[in-house]
Amino acid sequence: MSKIFLDNAATTRVDELVVEAMNKIYLNVYGNPSSVHIFGEDSRDVLVKSREIIAKAVGVDSNEIIFTSGGTESNNLALKGIMHANNSKGKHMITQKTEHPSILKVCSELENEGYEVTYLPVDKDGLINLEELKKAIRKDTVLVTIMHANNEIGTIFPIEDIAKICKEKKLIFHTDACQSFLKVKFNPENIDLITINSHKIHGPKGVGALIIKSGIKLQKQMHGGEQESNIRSGTENLPGICGFAKACSITKQSDVKRMTELRNYLIDLLLKIPNTKLNGSNEKRLCNNINISFKDVEGDMLLFRLSNQGLALSTGSACTARNNKPSHVLQAIGLNKNFIDGSLRISLSKYTTKEELDTAYDLIQKSVKLIRSLK
Ligand SMILES: *Cc1c(COP(=O)(O)O)cnc(C)c1O
Repeated sequence: MSKIFLDNAATTRVDELVVEAMNKIYLNVYGNPSSVHIFGEDSRDVLVKSREIIAKAVGVDSNEIIFTSGGTESNNLALKGIMHANNSKGKHMITQKTEHPSILKVCSELENEGYEVTYLPVDKDGLINLEELKKAIRKDTVLVTIMHANNEIGTIFPIEDIAKICKEKKLIFHTDACQSFLKVKFNPENIDLITINSHKIHGPKGVGALIIKSGIKLQKQMHGGEQESNIRSGTENLPGICGFAKACSITKQSDVKRMTELRNYLIDLLLKIPNTKLNGSNEKRLCNNINISFKDVEGDMLLFRLSNQGLALSTGSACTARNNKPSHVLQAIGLNKNFIDGSLRISLSKYTTKEELDTAYDLIQKSVKLIRSLK
């Protein structure tokens, strides 16, 4: 059975060039970057170069990059770090309803600690209303966090406009850019904190960064050997960081164009299936995301059948897919229950081929027909 991986919003295959770069570090550059001897110096060189490559890819200064264990840790550090450091200004923050669990669960934790969180609603495309954002701002508001692109429905938020509003109101703005990094260009100028990770761009898992603009103070969440400007202690994951940098440097803009064309090709095919609905925005959509609902189809059954035939997709996001609750994102965009149940997320990568999409369409179309005939 040939296997087809169309779950690239959950994670991606590591590029061979990345593995090669990481292997060199594992085998040859094993000193602790904090050590004063020659081995430490070699490791420091790799760390400095990697930081420069990643900083350049984002468009920030290399001293604004703090390496972490991934998107989840960066989001935790950003939200807890900023709120804990600004108690004298206030205890209120603003987010929106379709954020990743690594934002939403931190928000409920902060609420348990006595902070207040406003969750902005989204429209049917998954976008917030900027006037509602302005109205939600209070005297004691410290932080606004809005993701760049949604991991389930691919909706791209206007983070430059949001950043401008925050700047005018003197609020700190954080964005979770794990899904959009190197896929959607943005100007980081007015954005105070940015979360990125490596395993969504064909780098290794367990590595990420929080970009913290100079002048932004936050409370560290990890205490120890004072690495990463004393914001995130712990010996740096040098092979991972080097792989992350390699993944950045080999990403090509032409891949975005190719993925967009392939995505549109598959969307057009899927919409030929009767009683089918594309979720999210048509225009403001990630180049590799398709989220589609088949009315009156049990999504779990569909996923299971397809998985048995070698096709890997997702119903909700990978993080919540195992607990069988209806997707908070599809609920937030107001999708009817009989459409929510039959939803699939199909996410492409630079490795995806047209042949794979033809096979995927064929399998999906047959399964939908079969499951509907069982009703
Ligand atoms: C994958 C993802 C995360 C979590 O990142 P990890 O590196 O897996 O911890 C956070 N936010 C978004 C939008 C994501 O897609």
